[in-house]
Amino acid sequence: MITFQRASKAAIKWASLSMLKLRKAARAKSGYGCPACKKPVVGFFRYGANPRWGCPSCGASPRQRLVAHLLDSGGLTIPPGGSVLHIAPNEAGLVRRFQAQAGDYVPADLHPEVYALEGIIPLDLMRFEASQRYDVIYASHVMEHVEDDALVLSNIYAALKFGGEAWLIVPLCDKPTIDGHRGMSQREREKRFGQWDHIRQYGPDFADRIRTAGFSLEMIAARDLSQVVQDRYALDDVIFRARKLQVDGLR
Ligand SMILES: [Zn+2]
Repeated sequence: MITFQRASKAAIKWASLSMLKLRKAARAKSGYGCPACKKPVVGFFRYGANPRWGCPSCGASPRQRLVAHLLDSGGLTIPPGGSVLHIAPNEAGLVRRFQAQAGDYVPADLHPEVYALEGIIPLDLMRFEASQRYDVIYASHVMEHVEDDALVLSNIYAALKFGGEAWLIVPLCDKPTIDGHRGMSQREREKRFGQWDHIRQYGPDFADRIRTAGFSLEMIAARDLSQVVQDRYALDDVIFRARKLQVDGLR
């Protein structure tokens, strides 16, 4: 669905990207870097309300750069030879990183046909029945699309090995979560949740939903990292690091 708002955001993004290309052509000093593609950059392009959203080299978003930086710095780790389930794998920098670090990399999506990615499997999280299969399940901007997030969190919990963890990122606002349903019109969902195919708008209580599913939760926010790191990589967002502890429910 093309709306005026979206077309306007795209135009501003294009203008911002063009400006960065001009600055690069003028040999501006590359004071910044992108952890996703490892390239020095002269700045980041604007998208929506964020003036430093995208990497001009690879297009990586702030959340993708945050995950890449945490993998670089040891804030997030994949066990050697571990198995990683990557849901909605449309972040090229992270696909390469997971492929390199995981012994068993499984990209998956409800609509695998829209990806040009070898080995991608069809996966409906509402009917996801794996048991103690994965070390890491990564789902960025996925949970706001599923009909029953309690069921999906429970399915993800079951699919993780003990000691495994889910790295979840969702669009967040500072008000309590508002749930929608499939019966709502696309126009209504765009108006209430910011995008036609979103089914809810999460607030800080997403944390409670994760804990209710049995996880131990740590939240990793870009704003808690050093100012130098935040600025150099233009990091933003929060990762909900949901761990399935070694002894179920006891620690
Ligand atoms: Zn990049």
